[in-house]
Amino acid sequence: MHAAAAAGQAGPGLILLARAPARASLNRKGYRMLSVLRSIVQEVNAAQNLDQALYIIVQRVKEALDVDVSSVYLADPGTCELVLLATDGLDPKSVGRVRLTWDQGLVGLVAERAEPVNLGNAPEHARYLYFAETGEERYHAFLGVPVIYNRKVLGVLVVQRHSEARFDEDTVTLLITIAAQLAGAIVHAEVTGGVSTIQAAKRVKDSRPLHGQPGAPGVAIGTAVVIHPYADINGIPDRKVGDSAAEQERFLAAVGMVRRDIREMIERMNDSLPAADNALFEAYLLMLDSDSFMGGTLERIRSGNWAPGALRQTIQEHARAFESMEDPYLRERAQDVRDLGRRVLQRMQDDTPKKRSYPKDTILVGEEITASMLAEVAPGRIAGVVSVRGSRTSHTAILARALGIPAVMGTSDLPVSLLDGCAIIADGYTGRVYINPSSAVSLEYIRLRREEAELSAGLKGMRDLVCETTDGIRMPLLANTGLVSDIRPSMTSGAEGIGLYRTEFPFMIRERFPGEEEQRQVYRQVLESFAPRPVVMRTLDVGGDKALPYFPIQEDNPFLGWRGIRITLDHPEIFLVQIRAMLRASIGLDNLHLLLPMVSTVGEVDEALALVRRAHGELVEEGEAVKMPRVGVMVEVPSAVFQIERLARRVDFLSIGTNDLTQYLLAVDRNNPRVADLYDSLHPAVLRALMQVIEGSHRQGKPVSVCGEMAGEPLAALLLLGMGVDSLSMSASSLLRIKWLVRSFSQKEARSVLRKVMRKESAAEVRDAVTKAVEIAGLGGLVRAGK
Ligand code: PEP
Ligand code: MG
Repeated sequence: MHAAAAAGQAGPGLILLARAPARASLNRKGYRMLSVLRSIVQEVNAAQNLDQALYIIVQRVKEALDVDVSSVYLADPGTCELVLLATDGLDPKSVGRVRLTWDQGLVGLVAERAEPVNLGNAPEHARYLYFAETGEERYHAFLGVPVIYNRKVLGVLVVQRHSEARFDEDTVTLLITIAAQLAGAIVHAEVTGGVSTIQAAKRVKDSRPLHGQPGAPGVAIGTAVVIHPYADINGIPDRKVGDSAAEQERFLAAVGMVRRDIREMIERMNDSLPAADNALFEAYLLMLDSDSFMGGTLERIRSGNWAPGALRQTIQEHARAFESMEDPYLRERAQDVRDLGRRVLQRMQDDTPKKRSYPKDTILVGEEITASMLAEVAPGRIAGVVSVRGSRTSHTAILARALGIPAVMGTSDLPVSLLDGCAIIADGYTGRVYINPSSAVSLEYIRLRREEAELSAGLKGMRDLVCETTDGIRMPLLANTGLVSDIRPSMTSGAEGIGLYRTEFPFMIRERFPGEEEQRQVYRQVLESFAPRPVVMRTLDVGGDKALPYFPIQEDNPFLGWRGIRITLDHPEIFLVQIRAMLRASIGLDNLHLLLPMVSTVGEVDEALALVRRAHGELVEEGEAVKMPRVGVMVEVPSAVFQIERLARRVDFLSIGTNDLTQYLLAVDRNNPRVADLYDSLHPAVLRALMQVIEGSHRQGKPVSVCGEMAGEPLAALLLLGMGVDSLSMSASSLLRIKWLVRSFSQKEARSVLRKVMRKESAAEVRDAVTKAVEIAGLGGLVRAGK
């Protein structure tokens, strides 16, 4: 685990606590407690890894509570045992050796009950268990409190004394508070690789999987090729130089070489990846040539720093700016910036990057596998990707999906340094990674991979088939895009159009609001690629979790604040420029549809429509042959659900943004991992809201589509089919699977599944019932590996 990270997840909680204001009502003892807590928290925040954090906790707790022993036991997820991981007072040699199951000993009792156990004379208790290696018999008083995260007991924090007296109330509450803070730290340590190398190395020898995030679907079976980052840019010091001209030359020469490397990469990928996807690497080129990168670094060199130091400053500044963004997609862009920086640095230090050979079934493994590392391997040789960092939204994952390479991202406790040449299985559906798998696991995955290949071959054949149910009901499937790199897969997937073009991406990758002509060209490319098929372009939807680097918005509750149409109506100059650009882009194509995001009142629609008409009128006056586009409203706020008919009357179509609608209906932040278990679009309340929207729109004779992630999830899509939604828009990678689903059911059957499901009371019950229906229909392969 990285140090800051140890504190990280613990961070929000720990930092919060560290800053908690001392209340006037606190007595002196209370103040002392608070200050003890604060200082423990601060020290834990500064720890280098989980082992060190645990050690600090036991040491400081022992000192602060004036006890004879302080220990932490954590649950080993593999064996379900509680393992002594840190102690101050017991024999240090017992660390890692004392292990008990949940029905053993007092520590087990605390975990089992998930409650504190406070005893004056522990050895007298029926559950007392004696471990010779700890020297424990000398202690009488025992206080154990559970360490709980998301309702799950992760471990137990224990203090003991020689004396025979129960611990007082203050001690109990303090220990409970520390344990609550510790929980976050442990979870974060687990997700950021904090598990000690001893534990991680142990896993190399057994067959238990490690867990990451599914990055790209599929099953990869192959040999690990560990890729180390090219050069550590953060370690470069600043250095004063006299000859700034020579340093500038050195930097420019390196940039030139990297530009050439990237062009070669684009060429190489052209054979296996349609040209438009290479836009990903074109973006590298843009970044490389941007004024803030080139100009910024040259400026720093001119101010006296040597070229590597100036480069480091520029990269760190850019990476930090991205990392501080709330939007997960933009946060991931920090990775691209660092990757680019390392390439330039490497070229400055040594102009020949090492070429290495890759076995035929290469699984790229590393701390941070970047999109460009992936692009360096000849496509036929790469079976999969497993990366410690990154997520679904990393370019690596996006590229892997486009290339059909299974990927697992964010596999935090991967012992990277031990893996080169190991056999690896990566399950891109579940995020599981097996290192040196047992033959049983291997055989099972070989079977799954074979079935999956058969399934994919079958799916490819669906590309040109119409999407209709077995009883002949058409269900157009459209694609969601935003990145230029998404356009090509959308086209080749057989999408009948673009159901959601998120215009914020072109805004996000610039350093200022793009001008009308600049926007027109971007939109034209998209509209032209798909004409005559429809393209639904959403007007700027920033705010919430999507910030523009040059338009910062500080709010306590960004998701309930200034976002989407609220911003653009307050800034008609931004809105009008965008609408004019879209209208001009569609001249002669006339496949543009406009979509208004985050609508919560009918007044917003009236105002937006007036502005659209104004832009149209002005362009006509200017002699442009523009047509008035069809306009739709996104239904993603509960108030829009309850006013659906009034909204529908005003516009031509509706599109349900289930990502936001789910978050607002369930009051669950869509990006907060702490409440991720509660975020489920199959919640009966969400399903009811969807039915209300579809029925209301249809009463007004208006078509309604779903463009949130839900549309691409097979279980949800079946229910949407049953509800009578008019079209579905999803990521291109889901399209053929959903087509298979639609073509396997009649609408009558889908309705009957829906009817059954609407009697359920929870998302889990809904999920079970639809899964059963999908399995019975022989489509289990849609929801898991295999056929
Ligand atoms: C949605 O909210 O479902 C949606 C499609 O919009 P976004 O994910 O861009 O907020
Ligand atoms: Mg939305």
